[in-house]
Amino acid sequence: MLTGLANMPDGDEATFWMEWRDYYQYSHDDLQVGEYRDRLRLVWRDAKNGDKAGSVIDGTLRWLVATLLQSPTGRARKVLLVHAGKLHVNLALLPLAVAAGISERSSKMALCANPECHRRYFLRERSSDRFCGNPVCANFGQREKKRKWWAAHGKEWRSA
Ligand SMILES: [Zn+2]
Repeated sequence: MLTGLANMPDGDEATFWMEWRDYYQYSHDDLQVGEYRDRLRLVWRDAKNGDKAGSVIDGTLRWLVATLLQSPTGRARKVLLVHAGKLHVNLALLPLAVAAGISERSSKMALCANPECHRRYFLRERSSDRFCGNPVCANFGQREKKRKWWAAHGKEWRSA
């Protein structure tokens, strides 16, 4: 869901909900999903730049929780759940699911190094990953590597 939300094109909330409404308690104030996306993108970009103090992340988490608690959804639904002897945050509420995702995955957030990529926000598996899982982007990386090699060594190779 995190990458789906971060990569959601402008005005595409309906498609997002079509994909995710079975997992989250849908309500009309969740139509501000575009704003969740914009906040998430800020975190994503900052994670890439190393938000060491976590200030953008903390600010976003506070905003998500406050937004939910002040909304009709937050007032009408249970924000906290008790199950099997444990206290849980209700992850069926989208802002809380986004907040939990950010808390757990911010160190994996990266932007695909292919500027033409249509899904630039991705979660990397290794810290060295520079491209999203799309083969087109991996190929772009290979071509870039070759271009750099030729720029650095092409002259000597051709004159050898
Ligand atoms: Zn990509």
